[in-house]
Amino acid sequence: SNIPKIVILGAGYAGILTAQRLQKELNYNEADVTLVNRHDYHYITTHLHMPAAGTDSVENTRVPISKLIDEFKIDLVKSSVQEIRPHEKKVILEDGTLSYDYLVISLGGESETFGIPGLADYAMTIRSINSVRLIRKHIEYQFALYKNERHPQERLNFVVGGAGFSGIEFVAELADRMPELCKEYDVDPSLVNIYNVEAAPTALPGFAPELVEYAMDVLKKKGVTFKIGVAIQECTPDGVMLATGEEIKAATVVWTGGIRGNRMIEAAGFETARGRVKVDEYLHAPGHDHIYIIGDNALVFNPEGRPYPPTAQIAMQQGVCCAHNIVAAIRNQQPRKFVYNNKGTVASLGKGEGIAAVGDKLMKGWKAAQLKKLVDMRYLFIIGGIPLVLKKGKFL
Ligand code: NAD
Repeated sequence: SNIPKIVILGAGYAGILTAQRLQKELNYNEADVTLVNRHDYHYITTHLHMPAAGTDSVENTRVPISKLIDEFKIDLVKSSVQEIRPHEKKVILEDGTLSYDYLVISLGGESETFGIPGLADYAMTIRSINSVRLIRKHIEYQFALYKNERHPQERLNFVVGGAGFSGIEFVAELADRMPELCKEYDVDPSLVNIYNVEAAPTALPGFAPELVEYAMDVLKKKGVTFKIGVAIQECTPDGVMLATGEEIKAATVVWTGGIRGNRMIEAAGFETARGRVKVDEYLHAPGHDHIYIIGDNALVFNPEGRPYPPTAQIAMQQGVCCAHNIVAAIRNQQPRKFVYNNKGTVASLGKGEGIAAVGDKLMKGWKAAQLKKLVDMRYLFIIGGIPLVLKKGKFL
């Protein structure tokens, strides 16, 4: 048939929003839409720090994709993408091949290790449901081992590399989880050490200093030790080596030092910077009017010429714009330029604590924590309506 084929790769924030909008805007038989995802669930990346630390369940962090899309309108293919071949208009999956007329690449980013030796082998990352289940079980196992070995201190030392938002949100949960673990495993809480190591001269570089100071105070009171202005230089089976020559022995190292674009995109021949593609104003890959790159793999610049950081917020907005532009292309209408509407930043600092910057307004403490819950619930509402809010939402 000559019905255009749209293939969406990845069902994260960008991919799900694209699929849902296409489903809503396209008329019957106007296009065939296929959504490819490695898992049959969508996960809420902004929530992963909680199941990683064990302060919330994995089930509160994921949703079956079948609950988010209408499978009469969208074909869901559970498979892993192996290769993108732009010149053949084909995508190679682990178990087949798809051809497309319009391609949406929304595969999400990867952990950036900057080539630091040992990180890929010995550090864990907060990237997916599977990776956070590993972190949680690993931490619990260290407590069990501690009591069954000759009490090696490194079992109770935890290193988090990077104090960006991911690192800060995770150490907060980790600190909140410790009293429970200590009680369960009969460990003296004063023996536990949580280190957050940051290479930049400040935690949360670029964020309002007043809020950074507040966050660090809250976390220090919870028992976190900061090492600021010190880079992790190497990760070993025994812990981390710092640029100062200091070694921190730790059986648990979690790396939150940043993300980069998906390596499959470079391999496909697109020009990239740290793995991300500078898309045009309509979110097309340069020179490919039928390929849209959105989410963590897209590089979009603000009016001052600085790249927007890869966030859930921008990914969702790109999904909406991308769906609109594909429908416009099919109907021979004008596409819309992508304009990012920054609604602000909110981060949790564990139970009842948070920081937020919304426009010029700075918020901290309980109010910011409530705002974070509201933002999370708004997202659940957008993708799944009231039923999903009731099922997975966090209330007071
Ligand atoms: P990031 O890049 O924002 O932070 C990584 C941090 O690691 C940086 O501060 C960097 O200086 C540090 N670092 C790098 N190399 C290091 C080394 N060798 N030793 C020690 N420290 C090192 O990455 P992220 O925190 O994973 O966040 C990724 C994106 O997601 C960002 O855009 C962030 O804003 C966003 N995010 C937002 C929220 C929120 O809004 N609540 C939460 C999580 C993530």
